[in-house]
Amino acid sequence: MRGIILIAPPAAGKGTQSSLLCKKYKFVHVSTGDLLREAAAKDTEEGLYIREKMNSGELVDNSLTIKLLENKLKRSKASGFILDGFPRDIDQAKSLDKIMEEINISRLYVFYIDVDFDVVKKRYTGRVACPSCGEVYNKFIDELKPKMPGICDKCECKLITRSDDNEKTFNKRYEVYAEKTAPLVKFYNREKMLYRIDGNLSAKEINKQIVDILEVQND
Ligand SMILES: [Zn+2]
Repeated sequence: MRGIILIAPPAAGKGTQSSLLCKKYKFVHVSTGDLLREAAAKDTEEGLYIREKMNSGELVDNSLTIKLLENKLKRSKASGFILDGFPRDIDQAKSLDKIMEEINISRLYVFYIDVDFDVVKKRYTGRVACPSCGEVYNKFIDELKPKMPGICDKCECKLITRSDDNEKTFNKRYEVYAEKTAPLVKFYNREKMLYRIDGNLSAKEINKQIVDILEVQND
């Protein structure tokens, strides 16, 4: 079983890459947020504990998140998995190393999708969507612009911006990302598991870079 971690700033297209890889390689997408929500829905002591933590806005203990992750990976019959929301810091990265020793993970790939600040900012703040058909455009990126500014190509409705897609929200999210992930990038670089991907290119070209690495390293 192969493990994949994607590190990327907001609006870098992590979700798109994740679903492309899951489709191509039949990888399973593992989100620690989903695992926690699943466990919280159960009427067990554990479920009750997680519900209480979540309701009070506190973080769930690392050890519990790790236990849920380990159980999930142990049960998985997939050829690989893509982790979402994990690891968030060095401690979690080290826990993941331990899990890898205990279950059959042959190799961990960390893809660092490196995108220029201005590029992700344009992708994030330029997003406009059609409230009627859901089509998404970007007013700053030529190939994603609608034919008529502000109007949906498909149904001619007026396009709208999501209220949180503004510059202030982006700057804040980017700051949090940079602060959290910089140590992880360093950690995995030292462990020689890190592959730097040029994220300034199109989703298709980003996917090609990742696939090329997975194909070469196929074991
Ligand atoms: Zn439309």
